[in-house]
Amino acid sequence: MENVPFVLTKLPSKSIMFYCIFSHMKTEQYKIIEKYLIKEFVNRLFPISKVVAPVYKGFGNYVFEEIKSEENVTFKYIPTILPPKKYLLPKKETILEFKKNQELIIQPVVEYENLILFGVHTCDIAGFKCLNKVMSDTPKDVSFLLRKEHIVIIGIECNDYCDQYASCAFVGAHLPTTGYDLMFTELNDIFIVHVHSSKGTNIVEKTGLFKPATDAHIKELRELREKKAKIFYNEIPTERRYIPDLFDRSWNASVWKELEEKCLSCGNCTAVCPTCYCFDIAEEVDLTLKSGKRFRIWFSCQLDPFAKVAGGIDFRKERSARQRHRFYRKFRYHVDRFGMIFCTGCGRCSRTCMAGINLKEVLISLIKESEAKIWRKWL
Ligand code: SF4
Ligand code: SF4
Repeated sequence: MENVPFVLTKLPSKSIMFYCIFSHMKTEQYKIIEKYLIKEFVNRLFPISKVVAPVYKGFGNYVFEEIKSEENVTFKYIPTILPPKKYLLPKKETILEFKKNQELIIQPVVEYENLILFGVHTCDIAGFKCLNKVMSDTPKDVSFLLRKEHIVIIGIECNDYCDQYASCAFVGAHLPTTGYDLMFTELNDIFIVHVHSSKGTNIVEKTGLFKPATDAHIKELRELREKKAKIFYNEIPTERRYIPDLFDRSWNASVWKELEEKCLSCGNCTAVCPTCYCFDIAEEVDLTLKSGKRFRIWFSCQLDPFAKVAGGIDFRKERSARQRHRFYRKFRYHVDRFGMIFCTGCGRCSRTCMAGINLKEVLISLIKESEAKIWRKWL
């Protein structure tokens, strides 16, 4: 299928992105570490702070969890069941506590800890960047931003696709750009490491296992990225800069009706998504009614009560409308608001959906339907 000839939008093209990445590759920002030292590197992180890394859980599933030994770490993995966003935006978190004796005392609660997140893929780092954009907007989310401040992000670049559900190249999340402190890329017998912040420099100095990279290493890294451009191709038959316009044409697409028939409204797709951030606010009061907590908890636009408002009105009752909303939140609304697509191509939503709803297939159906409409207009 040819690229769909829609008008340009604000989103950058693939070639501009490649130029930005390559033009910033300066030798002095890179270190190398021999591959056989990588486990020792992980061991040397433990005295610095709590370490979280991908761990194999059986049946092809991986999770991010705290590790106490390098033996548990998995260096090659498909995206974990839940994304590492759970460390920045926990499933349930207390946001205030209150007590009533003579007077009512209300205390805001902000929970955070020092943490090293090891082995994060570039798609999940792209997810952090999306969340950071939202949480830094007014009003700022202090809890999220403080947590982020105390987390060191150590990435591992994928040199191959994880599986058939990924569409990271389509959204440009298959390459490291920004959003991490250290980025490890495998090159033959070494990892080349991009040191991208003072937190990253601190880890390099404290662990003491790195050597300076040379121009030859940088050349090798460039060659790898050029090879990757051939391995990671657009998984969707259009470029991402045409996507907002595609969605402008697709509000009444028949695809949404088809999803109405399939979707079970379980909310799994949003629970596993690294860029979903909707939450509910609830309170727990103790039996004496004298103290309690207010907390926020993940919520999902796919669940029935999500769009119910006063008077019992549900403004997004049909499952087709909820699914459409999910896709527009990923591919349209946030382009206007933040100039970003809010899908990282991690494939988790498709991997987890019990009804077999596949994000790539939905996008391809939208493109086909839109193309057919354009042809009908011209014939
Ligand atoms: S995971 Fe699948 S079935 Fe469940 S709400 Fe999402 S699209 Fe619907
Ligand atoms: S919409 Fe699906 S593929 Fe995109 S970021 Fe969310 S879970 Fe990943």
